[in-house]
Amino acid sequence: MDETFPTHARAVIIGGGVVGCSVAYHLAQLGWTDVVLLERKQLTSGTTWHAAGLIGQLRATLNLTRLAKYSAELYLRLEAETGEATGFKQNGSLGVALTKNRLEELKRGASMAKTFGLEVQVLTPEECKGVYPLLDARDVEGGVFLPKDGQADPGNIALALAKGARSKGVKIFEHTKVTGIRTKDGRVTGVVTGRGEIAAEVVVNCGGMWGREIGRMAGVNVPLHACEHFYVVTEPIEDLPRDLPVLRVPDECTYYKEDAGKILLGCFEPEAKPWGGEGIPEDFCFDQLPEDFAHFEPILNRAVERLPILAKAGIRTFFNGPESFTPDGRYLLGEAPELKNFFVACGFNSIGIQSAGGAGKALAEWMDAGEPPFDLWDVDIRRLQPFQGNRRYLEMRVSETLGLLYADHFPYRQYATARGLRQSPLHERLAERGACFGETAGWERANWFAPPGVEPVYEYGWGRQNWFPYSAAEHRAVRSSVGLFDMSSFAKFRVEGPDAEAVLQRICANDVAVEPGRIVYTQWLNHRGGIEADLTVTRLAEDSFLVVTAAASATRDLAWLKRHIPAEARCAVVDVTSAEAVLCVMGPNARALLQPLVDTDLSNAAFPFGTAKAIELGPVIARAHRVTYVGELGWELYVPSEMARAAFDAILAAGDAHGLTLCGLHALDSCRIEKAYRHFGHDVTDEDHVLEAGLGFAVKVDKPQSRFGAFIGREAVLRKRDTGVTRRLLQFKLKRPEPMLYHNEPIWRGDRIVGRVTSGNYGHHLGAAIGLGYVACAPGDGPEELGGSDYEIEIAGERFAAEASLKPFYDPQGSRVRM
Ligand SMILES: Cc1cc2nc3c(=O)[nH]c(=O)nc-3n(C[C@H](O)[C@H](O)[C@H](O)COP(=O)(O)OP(=O)(O)OC[C@H]3O[C@@H](n4cnc5c(N)ncnc54)[C@H](O)[C@@H]3O)c2cc1C
Repeated sequence: MDETFPTHARAVIIGGGVVGCSVAYHLAQLGWTDVVLLERKQLTSGTTWHAAGLIGQLRATLNLTRLAKYSAELYLRLEAETGEATGFKQNGSLGVALTKNRLEELKRGASMAKTFGLEVQVLTPEECKGVYPLLDARDVEGGVFLPKDGQADPGNIALALAKGARSKGVKIFEHTKVTGIRTKDGRVTGVVTGRGEIAAEVVVNCGGMWGREIGRMAGVNVPLHACEHFYVVTEPIEDLPRDLPVLRVPDECTYYKEDAGKILLGCFEPEAKPWGGEGIPEDFCFDQLPEDFAHFEPILNRAVERLPILAKAGIRTFFNGPESFTPDGRYLLGEAPELKNFFVACGFNSIGIQSAGGAGKALAEWMDAGEPPFDLWDVDIRRLQPFQGNRRYLEMRVSETLGLLYADHFPYRQYATARGLRQSPLHERLAERGACFGETAGWERANWFAPPGVEPVYEYGWGRQNWFPYSAAEHRAVRSSVGLFDMSSFAKFRVEGPDAEAVLQRICANDVAVEPGRIVYTQWLNHRGGIEADLTVTRLAEDSFLVVTAAASATRDLAWLKRHIPAEARCAVVDVTSAEAVLCVMGPNARALLQPLVDTDLSNAAFPFGTAKAIELGPVIARAHRVTYVGELGWELYVPSEMARAAFDAILAAGDAHGLTLCGLHALDSCRIEKAYRHFGHDVTDEDHVLEAGLGFAVKVDKPQSRFGAFIGREAVLRKRDTGVTRRLLQFKLKRPEPMLYHNEPIWRGDRIVGRVTSGNYGHHLGAAIGLGYVACAPGDGPEELGGSDYEIEIAGERFAAEASLKPFYDPQGSRVRM
């Protein structure tokens, strides 16, 4: 143990589980040797020591899979590097499907894995039985086998990482609890412990299920809550093959691991038991929770049928241990939006061992470079909302997220718990009219409307779901008459003050030094030219701007904005999301519908695209913004929240004569993809250069420099202009009308995978599935080289012919927007 207790360190890591040890190891690899790791009890004594040790690589999304793949590669070489045995056995893993839907999910995952060379084999039921002879495969539909997956000893992985870190100078102190966190001027400055204070430039919260409390010491929201997680270990089983792969039967919520001649059987049951809400006992150290056989019994009964050999084996160990879960089942990584230099790596949702290698590396690189090494939005802590730190909310939600690990990951799947917390003022109006709500960032939003006599309930599947025809009708109404969307969930920030323009000119790649009443579509770029935000800025007055962005990006964009206001700037930003509801009236009949209701000339000449005006709307006041995300004539109407219902009623009363249809978010998305409008987090992320994304038209490198400097990313844009782009975002349309695209499907050209679909939906007007996706190209390649009909997109192992285009297939000239 390291003896002299330091008073200063470049970085302090709180928590000596596998994640803290991995962050320490990877920081040391990057040359950060002045690092201190503090553990309140002993290394691994929290959750790490009792993990089952499954090391799988195939995750629900591409980047999570990428990180898990790195973990497996690291654990394979760690023993040779550190001399500490990790017990990593690369015996492969088999996931079997008992339903056709599950098989489709597994096959789609296998296709996704191909885009970056992860080895996956799709197996028939007979082949599953061949790989895992103990399996009763009579009702198995098929499976996937990952030969490079395996199992390891979790505690020893953590200890090997700690040893590797220590050998490069990292100091580790056990029995040292962090009791406070020091901050100054919006940044972290150190930690308080029972042994004294350590001043630090950077602090990392790797506190596992204690992570939320540690966050609260620093005023940082870390939404996670522990749940009980169960497994049993059998008595030794005679002649049990030692080379059995790990087996997962998600349809029965179970996983199986050969464990020194015994079988370890674990489960992710649909309704989990939250734990520790009232506080985790102070003396918790290598502790277990009381067993609950009644809870586990149904799982065990099914398992005995799946693996008949279990009937002959007694249970030697019944294990119940706590692990932290997050509201969306993905971990929390990155710099806290509330506090500079305070990083978080917590909430690992039962995959912390297999994720720790990749997450630790990514976080260390993020700390080193000051920005994420690649798009980590899936796990970025900035995706969470302030309300999600609420304990009761967390308790309700995590009882569901544990089970979702092994549930069918259907597209559009909605949470069942902790719903109804954030509602638009129009909620009841929409519900009365058949809205089926989905949840984004806590907001209840109408995703589609059920016609009279149809229940507004999802029936999930991988093909066309039950709402497909209703959403198609909404889509067609937007294209041919007019639709009304409730977009009150938009996040809205007022940027005010004499320096507001100068501040925004530094942040925005587009030119926002426009006349009041102009709306500017812009990206916020990082120094690599990657897209940090994709939004609109409306100038309301000389010293007042309104930033409007997606609900899901609210925390992230607000943090970016606040961080980039120089201390000396006379500029303030306020989140005014709740102040205004937003009603979007979109479609060729929008003008005819609205004109009689308003006091303002809506003609194209008087109210052109890209402008905003205060108007009287029926009996209320509003601000009309002429913009669109669906590619049609239309206005977004910003109405004081308390008047939203009156505005809605007025529009609806006038609507029948113009074919007004209430539309949901699914129709919004299918319309936007026909127009190839980009979606932040999918099509445009912080690793996608704005020129590769085809958004160069919104970048003004020649705009006058603000007094706070040229806009962030300008140099990167100029550089890329010189060298030319080597990948481009294209729009794809399948030639056959039936298959469905969602995202992550590989894009083939000839015998090569050239990219993957970043977002997909059905183009009801175009009559086929539409996807966006980046493909590799040579600098200077244009529509001739990039477009064409020789592409194929792979869906669940089958390839479908597709056409590609640089311009949108729908209304390529954009004339419908400007009519
Ligand atoms: C039964 C079970 C089976 C599992 N099986 C698997 C599996 O097969 N594969 C897999 O990938 N994952 C598995 N997991 C999940 C995995 O164990 C966790 O995701 C992982 O261990 C989390 O690591 P951590 O470092 O975040 O947390 P922890 O290991 O809990 O580490 C956090 C540390 O922070 C310390 N700490 C807290 N507060 C303070 C403070 N104030 N000051 C100093 N130190 C502090 C704690 O003492 C603790 O040691 C399983 C979990 C359970 C419960």
